[in-house]
Formats: sequence, structure tokens, C-alpha cells
Amino acid sequence: MGFLIMPNGFKVMDEMGIAQKVQKEGMPILRAVMMNEEGRVSNIQSMDCCYSISRPTCIKLLEQTLGYENIQYKKEMNTFHEKDGIVNQLEFKDGTFVNPDVIIASDGMNSKTRKYIFPEFQTKMVAEKEIVSIIYSPELSKNLKHTFVKYLNPERGFNMGILPLGGNELVWYIQINSNIHDLPMKTPSEINAFCSEIFFSLPNLFKRALEYTDYDSTYMWEMNTMDLLPAFHKKGILLMGDAAHPLLSFTSQGTSSALDDAWNLSELLQTKYSSTEALFKTFYEARKYTIQRYILEGKILLDQFLRPHKYSNVALPFVNHVSK
Ligand SMILES: Cc1cc2nc3c(=O)[nH]c(=O)nc-3n(C[C@H](O)[C@H](O)[C@H](O)COP(=O)(O)OP(=O)(O)OC[C@H]3O[C@@H](n4cnc5c(N)ncnc54)[C@H](O)[C@@H]3O)c2cc1C
Repeated sequence: MGFLIMPNGFKVMDEMGIAQKVQKEGMPILRAVMMNEEGRVSNIQSMDCCYSISRPTCIKLLEQTLGYENIQYKKEMNTFHEKDGIVNQLEFKDGTFVNPDVIIASDGMNSKTRKYIFPEFQTKMVAEKEIVSIIYSPELSKNLKHTFVKYLNPERGFNMGILPLGGNELVWYIQINSNIHDLPMKTPSEINAFCSEIFFSLPNLFKRALEYTDYDSTYMWEMNTMDLLPAFHKKGILLMGDAAHPLLSFTSQGTSSALDDAWNLSELLQTKYSSTEALFKTFYEARKYTIQRYILEGKILLDQFLRPHKYSNVALPFVNHVSK
């Protein structure tokens, strides 16, 4: 799949020394164009320092920076072992153990670690689902150039967005209001049937995108939200990224804020702390206001989509980062 890297994420990539690679292998997105339900342009917004990139390319660039020798693949963490309320040993599915000095877990939206240390905090599924696909089309890449286009039709219970990823690839997604449409639909033929149902109401660009689509590699995602945790650490483990704060995809801040977390922690590590606990607390204080804002703005964007009659004006389809 692919995603939009917002200016805060790009700044971190710049600090990591991979800005040029992102510029070369991703695609600068210079403007966002909104289309209304009649297919007319309703808003154009210029974008600065935003890049789209495929997930494999993003991971490859981060792997190259970190060094492959520092990463272990195919090692699924399975069991936590504790001593005096602190996790002091990790057991992997392959039967191996690690006794770490510090544990930082970024095991994603469905984080096993978060469920272990904060079992009382659950993610909540929202009424928006998302179908996502990547297509290859020199024609559409050339047409779009550096533009992210979003068609808004919340009255009919869906939006569709498309953006170029570079290398003649594009990612498209459809946001679906499951209060209006019967779900789930997870098999390729069910997803294809849904896309055919909405096909005729779409502007030409989006129809062309669906014509290029391979439904065997098109997926439907459940969307989840969670309120801000009271801390990002417990039992000696620090959570980061989606594990610490699952964000709605409406914010387009998932990847960028995960990168921001990592960068913030590395900055804090320049200073000496009385304990690991003190470091983790400082990290939470440094990040909680920004994350709280993403959570709140994500909820507003979701509400605009699910209850459009409440709003006279539709905001931009993402949350811009504001420095503290
Ligand atoms: C449909 C959709 C669209 C999105 N669009 C955007 C967008 O436009 N812009 C944006 O910024 N973000 C977007 N996101 C969100 C973005 O993908 C995530 O926010 C981002 O990947 C979070 O990074 P992360 O490192 O925290 O978690 P992840 O990328 O989920 O990485 C977690 C890693 O942990 C590994 N793991 C999990 N459990 C274990 C275990 N027990 N042992 C070992 N490893 C484990 C997983 O295999 C995975 O590699 C979107 C997400 C979805 C679903």
C-alpha cells in the first residue's frame, strides 16, 4: 500500500538524511483538489513538503538507514516474562528469549504489547471502512502529476481519493460509511461488486482508476480509534507509533507521527535521566498534546463524513501538523 507523508514526517526523514531519497523514490504532492458529489472542483489547497510513497519503498529507505544487520526479521514476539512488575524477558515464537535493558514496542495498531500492559484500554471500531488499492498507470500518473484528488460524496456514504506514488504507480482508496452500506465485504469479488455499484456516480478519473484495478490485491480495512492513553509506558516498556496511539486514517498522520515519536525519543536520549521511567515520562509529556490533537481532529473528520448534514463546509482531508 502507500501513504502520504506529512511535513512533520518529512522533517524527520530529512533529519535522518533520507530526504533526497524520499524526493527521488516518492512523489512530491503539491496540491489537494476536492471534488463535490457532482464531480466539480470545490476546493484547491496547495501543499508544502508532503510526499506520497509506497509502504515497501518507505520501509526499504528506513532499513537502509538503520542497517539491515541491525534488524531481525521473522521473529514474532510471543510472551512477556516479568519480575517485580517489570518485563525483563521476551519470548519469541521460534523459542528464543531476549533479556533486554530497555523495551520499545512499535508493534502496530493491534499491538500485543499495548494489550498486555494496558488491558483495560481497548480500540473501538468506527463506522468508516476503507478499501485501498495500488494501480499501475502511466496515463493516470501523467494526468495527476503532483496532485492528490479527493471526491466527496458523504451523502451517498462514500469518498474516494487518489494520489500518485511515483514510478507510474498510484494509490486509491474509498472511505465507506458502514451505516449506509451493508458490510463486511472482504473477498475480491465482494469488493469488486461494491466498486461496480458506485462506479457510475464517479468522476472519470476515478472510473479510470477502477478500470486499472486488480481486485486480488485490493483490501478492505477496519478503522479503529482509541482515546489518549494515560501514559505510553508501563512495566518498563515504552510504546510508540500506532501501538501507543492508533490514529484514524482521516488524519493521514499515522506514519508521520510514528516517525515523529522515534525522532523525539532520539532527541531526548541526548540528555541524561535519573531513570528509564523518568525518560519515558518526559517522552509522554513531549508527545501527548500533539497526539491528543490528532485524535480530536480525526474524530471531527470522521463525524463530517458520517454526519455531513451537520456541516456547511468540509475541511481538508487530513490533519496538518502544528509545532508545539
Ligand atoms: C487503509 C489505511 C490507510 C492509511 N493511510 C495512511 C496515510 O495516508 N498516511 C499515514 O501517515 N498513515 C496512513 N495509515 C497508517 C499507517 O500505515 C500507520 O500509522 C503506520 O504504518 C504506523 O507505523 P507503526 O510502525 O507504528 O506500525 P506498523 O507500520 O503497523 O508496524 C508494526 C510492525 O510490527 C510488527 N509486529 C506486530 N506484532 C508483532 C509481534 N508480536 N512480534 C514482532 N513484530 C510484530 C508488524 O509485523 C509490523 O511490521 C493508513 C493505514 C491504513 C490501514
